[in-house]
Amino acid sequence: MDAPDSAALRVGIIGFGNFGQFIAGGIQRQGHAVLATSRSDYSDYCAAHGIRFFRSLEALCEEQPDVLLVCSSILSTESVVRAIPLAKLRPDTIVADVLSVKQFPRNLLLEILPPEFGIVCTHPMFGPESGKHGWSNLPFVYDKVRVAEEGAQKAKCDRFLSIFEQEGCRMVEMSCAEHDRHAAGSQFITHTIGRVLAQLNLQSTPINTKGYETLLQLTENTVSDSFDLYYGLFMYNVNATEQMDKLDRAFEKVKQMLYGRLHGVLRKQIVERVPMPGAPLLGSREAKDSPAASREEMKHLSPRVADVPSPCHTFSPVAFSTVKC
Ligand code: NAP
Repeated sequence: MDAPDSAALRVGIIGFGNFGQFIAGGIQRQGHAVLATSRSDYSDYCAAHGIRFFRSLEALCEEQPDVLLVCSSILSTESVVRAIPLAKLRPDTIVADVLSVKQFPRNLLLEILPPEFGIVCTHPMFGPESGKHGWSNLPFVYDKVRVAEEGAQKAKCDRFLSIFEQEGCRMVEMSCAEHDRHAAGSQFITHTIGRVLAQLNLQSTPINTKGYETLLQLTENTVSDSFDLYYGLFMYNVNATEQMDKLDRAFEKVKQMLYGRLHGVLRKQIVERVPMPGAPLLGSREAKDSPAASREEMKHLSPRVADVPSPCHTFSPVAFSTVKC
């Protein structure tokens, strides 16, 4: 790696796991220096990648990085941020984060950091899987929550954001609240579907359609992220519960569409059928006593039960009886 020039930033990464390592690559490619600290020991990895690793957050902060970038899990953010030894940092330090939820870190950083500290909340909408072939055209969401309008802090912020611009990201300036609304309806839904599909243990077949290949890929991408990350998307985005409920209702609706239609087809067969020899004629006393007629009656009494046949019951139009599967 080339030595960083005078305009190069020193970016201190807190949380050097999956995503911390991934984003460090882009920061270095743009000629900036990376310092890292984490709960686990990544000193070997760092030594091999030209990164200074610090065994404690205190030690990293003593180096007074220009930007402190929080890359730890959503769930651990509060304890991580509260542990930052603020007195060791320069007052114009920028604290930024990459959390996949945005209102939570915004409010936390505003609450904890002294007013002189800059705050930039970001969410690179990609990760080690989707960004492994480069970051070109991938969305990078940011909100300059609190940055000086001029001077050294503004310059640092511009340089920090230019890392992602230079990597080719599609820069999207957006409030944290708006991000969370969009992300719940897109990213959280994507992760949820991927997690549900993973429960099906889908396997590749000799006749995969393109659509199925996409599902397999989605499943693989989703489960390669930690469950902590997914749980964070749910717990720390106020819009996630509503999306979960919507998804539940949508699934029920689709099932009803199928079973409701099936009911229509079967009823038509029942009503229009040519009577089998020996079967009771429609309208006759025997027919009224038949199981199908009972079911018709049930419909009036309990429309929910009668309208949607259970998936484990099929009607035999010939025998007029329900057959358990
Ligand atoms: P993650 O499971 O969300 O976070 C793992 C990181 O959190 C590791 O650095 C880990 O440190 C640290 N950590 C976990 N529990 C901790 C604790 N109790 N105390 C201190 N540190 C703790 O997985 P990730 O994919 O690396 O994501 C990191 C951050 O990036 C998250 O905030 C996530 O929302 C964001 N993000 C991820 C992606 C993605 O595609 N993965 C994309 C955009 C943004 P150790 O490794 O030292 O244990």
